[in-house]
Amino acid sequence: MKLFDTIAAISTPVGQGGIAIIRISGENFEDLLSRIITVNSGKRLGELESHKLTLSKVHRIDNEAKIIDEALVAIMRAPNSYTGETVAEINCHGGFFVARVILDMLIELGIRLAEPGEFTRRAFVNGKIDLTKAEAVMDVINSNSKLGLENSGAALSGRLSEKINGIRERALYLAANLSAIADFPDEIEEMESSELSDKILSIKNDVRKMIDGFETGKIMRDGICTVIAGRPNVGKSSVLNSLARFERAIVTDIPGTTRDIVEEYINIRGISLRLLDTAGIRESEDIVERIGIERAVENLKTADLCLFVVDVSCGLTDEDIKIYNEIETDNIIVILNKTDKTDSEIDIADYVQKLNISEDSIVLTSNPKGKEAVGIDKLENAIESKFIENKISYDDVYITDERQRESLVKAERALDRMIESINTGMPQDMLYVDLEDVIEALGEITGETVQEEIIEQVFEKFCVGK
Ligand code: GDP
Repeated sequence: MKLFDTIAAISTPVGQGGIAIIRISGENFEDLLSRIITVNSGKRLGELESHKLTLSKVHRIDNEAKIIDEALVAIMRAPNSYTGETVAEINCHGGFFVARVILDMLIELGIRLAEPGEFTRRAFVNGKIDLTKAEAVMDVINSNSKLGLENSGAALSGRLSEKINGIRERALYLAANLSAIADFPDEIEEMESSELSDKILSIKNDVRKMIDGFETGKIMRDGICTVIAGRPNVGKSSVLNSLARFERAIVTDIPGTTRDIVEEYINIRGISLRLLDTAGIRESEDIVERIGIERAVENLKTADLCLFVVDVSCGLTDEDIKIYNEIETDNIIVILNKTDKTDSEIDIADYVQKLNISEDSIVLTSNPKGKEAVGIDKLENAIESKFIENKISYDDVYITDERQRESLVKAERALDRMIESINTGMPQDMLYVDLEDVIEALGEITGETVQEEIIEQVFEKFCVGK
């Protein structure tokens, strides 16, 4: 891919809307653009003040009489733009066809269609943003919950890079010390090994905290992968509907009619649950249903959270226990549903004992059709206490990407090697090689010391126009 030619793309989603934005980035393309855009004030595009929207006409190439649309055009001159190059934005009307016709004319003029993420990639190459910010751009675009958006916003504002760079600077400082010891062995004494160990351990501690925050960051970004399990007819779909507060899954009396898995997102207390409704887990002759069931069992193994629903009016059956034993995650909430159908006292202690679960993880609900649901607030509290309380510190920023985690793990391993070398009494200048690995691994996260392959990996996830 050749960088620095002029590129263009429609940056708004496909479909009809108030406006669509076509974005162009490159150098010296204003004269070219003048062949399809005439500024209403009579000024040339090249004379327009930077960063100001200007009412203009878009017309057929070199034919001012054949007007296509009226648009607001802004030129953001290099280097003060998103990409660091000169950027133009054409805000035309938001019909799919009009934006497409304008883009086609740009291509006819020799401007190239941008590849996915190419604008942001240029911003990275031109030093406008680092890799954590580039990744945060995509996270902001894809975010589906309040906490997820806040975490991506913090990364976008540079807080994640600051945190990584802070740790990296301590490693760089230590490297300078070690290299001075190696260069001037007669003049500079080795550090006390306990002092050196403390410094390395303190860096390792911060790296470890960031690695530990990955699960939280991922949950903030992608949501909690949640599976609802239980026998047919215990009320799984009804619980799901109450959580979603409107009907999305089929709710019916015939066992096994929620045949396939319905996936949806539900926002709870600032975080999203990525819910997989199951077909009910039981032996089935029906092929379609069985496929759903196999997938459901698979989901029981991979989910972050399992909501296990029991019909409290029937009590625990052998089939309930059989399904319960398939659940592999430690995060289980047992929902004792249909409390409205039983008059007898519910023996919670019995469920605690038979299901080997803490009382906090048991919630009573009732979700009868057409009547108000009861207990959904408590269910939300239980989810919140498992995933949000004591897990998320609101003024912190978390890594969200496997790539970032891998680099931190690499740094941690190199720090472990250093500690081992100290413990085995190696000369201090020998630690330098491992410390260089720490510095490089941390630099990979921000893009300071990154290889082309990793850059490719980051930008291949982007959408066109960003
Ligand atoms: P699923 O097969 O586990 O998804 O169960 P459904 O959600 O389809 O519910 C099966 C039947 O039980 C439906 O008729 C629901 O309206 C009914 N139902 C679900 N929850 C309750 C509840 O808490 N109380 C009562 N009375 N009926 C419920």
